[in-house]
Amino acid sequence: MARYRTVVEDCDILVVGGGMGGCGATYEARHWGRDLRIVVAEKANIDRSGAVAQGLYAINCYMGMQWNENTPEDHVRYARNDLMGMVREDLAFDMARHVDSTVHKFDEWGLPMMRDPETGRYLREGKWQIMIHGESYKPIVAEAAKNSADKIYNRIMVTHLLMDESRPNRIAGAVGFNVRTGDFHIFRAKAVIVGAGGASHIFKPRSVGEGMGRTWYAPWSSASAYALPIQVGAKMTQMENRIVLCRFKDGYGPVGAYFLHLKTYTQNAYGDNYEKHWYEHTKRMVGEYIDHHPVPTCLRNHAFIEEMKAGRGPIHMVTTEAFQDPHKESVGWENFLGMTVGQAVVWASQDIDPKYINPELTTSEPYVMGSHATCSGAWASGPEDVSPSEYFWGYNRMMTVDGLFGAGDALGGTAHAFSSGSFTEGRLAAKAACQYVRDHRNETIQVSEQQTESLRKAIYKPLENYAVGRNEIVGGTVSPSYLLPIHGLQRLEKLMDEYAGGISNNYMTNGPLLTRGLHLLGTLHEDLEYLGAEDLHQLQRAWELRHRALASEAVVRHTMFREETRWPGYYYRGDFMKLDDDNWHVLTTSRRDPESGEWTLEKAPLYHIVD
Ligand SMILES: Cc1cc2nc3c(=O)[nH]c(=O)nc-3n(C[C@H](O)[C@H](O)[C@H](O)COP(=O)(O)OP(=O)(O)OC[C@H]3O[C@@H](n4cnc5c(N)ncnc54)[C@H](O)[C@@H]3O)c2cc1C
Repeated sequence: MARYRTVVEDCDILVVGGGMGGCGATYEARHWGRDLRIVVAEKANIDRSGAVAQGLYAINCYMGMQWNENTPEDHVRYARNDLMGMVREDLAFDMARHVDSTVHKFDEWGLPMMRDPETGRYLREGKWQIMIHGESYKPIVAEAAKNSADKIYNRIMVTHLLMDESRPNRIAGAVGFNVRTGDFHIFRAKAVIVGAGGASHIFKPRSVGEGMGRTWYAPWSSASAYALPIQVGAKMTQMENRIVLCRFKDGYGPVGAYFLHLKTYTQNAYGDNYEKHWYEHTKRMVGEYIDHHPVPTCLRNHAFIEEMKAGRGPIHMVTTEAFQDPHKESVGWENFLGMTVGQAVVWASQDIDPKYINPELTTSEPYVMGSHATCSGAWASGPEDVSPSEYFWGYNRMMTVDGLFGAGDALGGTAHAFSSGSFTEGRLAAKAACQYVRDHRNETIQVSEQQTESLRKAIYKPLENYAVGRNEIVGGTVSPSYLLPIHGLQRLEKLMDEYAGGISNNYMTNGPLLTRGLHLLGTLHEDLEYLGAEDLHQLQRAWELRHRALASEAVVRHTMFREETRWPGYYYRGDFMKLDDDNWHVLTTSRRDPESGEWTLEKAPLYHIVD
């Protein structure tokens, strides 16, 4: 598309995505790289972007080491237990030992923290969570990044990473386009830190039609954090470890503050505590894991799903007792107003006053992420002082592509980092990236015009497909020669739902279903070459879909590879219905060859570093 300008930026460190991880990376990069040129490319506007855009009511990861509340080792045990044994303990420990200093910075920068009136400590919601008045959490964090970066490019959707042509497997920057002006952006960078968030809308959501944008994870989390590294051959890990959330029905409102702070509880339609009925059944599937405390999240989901299947739903959250206390009632509402306004609106529209009516809960469609309670993402090096040799290759948080780093949802193996842990991971990645740039200061990166030109053509192709094909449309929008992004998205969501363990099948899949799903994904990839975009907004949708489709393929391949049901309640392999520690007490990794498109899957050792 000749009508769009080309803008070239040369920098030392490029941060892709200005969310929690990206802001942490930008802030810390300035500390270690005072003389380096640090640039951020953000799809939205950094002030209100990413999963924290709407605000949060709690910081979910804070050790409280200054008051001897928890240790980093405790946090590793907690995350490992919740993930049925499977985390990268080196990465988890490294994040946990640094996360308190991040939270103290947020406090210094003006984030309103709630305090216990008696002790003066941060007010705990649960063992790991502290409560905040967090409506402005993201703008406060973004300010630190804005003060640190040489330049922040807002409204740039990064579509591809660039590779150095003078050395194999070495990153050289990224390209993308401005979603408002259409300009083509080339970023040549010596190191790249990907912090582009998790993935919603790869499985069909419960809310469709009028409610389509109402998802649990942010609808703009479009899997770029996975697709960008996969495209250049970075190894991924635990991509089968999708998450299903138990949330308030229709608005996906969070339940953490309700369970932990308000002490509400669940019951089935007949007022029974159903979880204990499923104890023996679950024990037959997962053995002693059901006896762990706290009970792993997936196993609590499992009891919920089984109870619904047994016909004793809906499951309710009992709020009517707690809400008689005016303080708890206002905390219950504020919790939504600070982070999920939509839930309050849904209740108002459905005549639900939780003081008098116990609201329904539901289990969500699956999401893919690496910072919340699951750990999908890129396979990255750990820190030198903690990681065993298989987990360490020179630079903390560097992926298997030289010079390519990650933070937050982008990285695999690091569950339960949440907002504060993601920012911390960004800081750790940036420190290592600065070191990487210094160690390689005498090398120049080479990016030919041929490389950027072929990517430019690919990026704008959906606009061209539309311009050429629109003359053939019939019935308003039906075209024989192109596919609209919304149609492609619905096709992706349907096939992931039906074949890879979504809501329609009660999260059930098996080898034959996955094989068929993979075939359908293959034909979808072929058809996505014919995406048509009528404007820049649709061009963004087109590239988000491409990223989602590639990440989905990784999910399907990993799910096929792990022949067990490790996380009942997140998904089930009907052909391997039990947890199998003899064969699968391992992490999974995959690599897609960028030239051939062939995937290789392997088991990676799972080291328990903490007792
Ligand atoms: C509903 C919900 C509730 C949560 N509750 C809590 C809580 O109570 N407490 C807590 O501590 N944590 C909570 N979290 C988790 C927390 O929000 C995440 O762990 C954290 O935001 C992850 O950081 P990240 O940098 O990986 O991703 P994000 O913060 O989502 O940032 C990703 C950034 O990348 C940008 N981006 C995406 N694609 C591209 C692209 N192609 N090019 C350029 N930029 C791109 C996005 O616009 C965004 O700015 C919650 C998350 C959600 C969704």
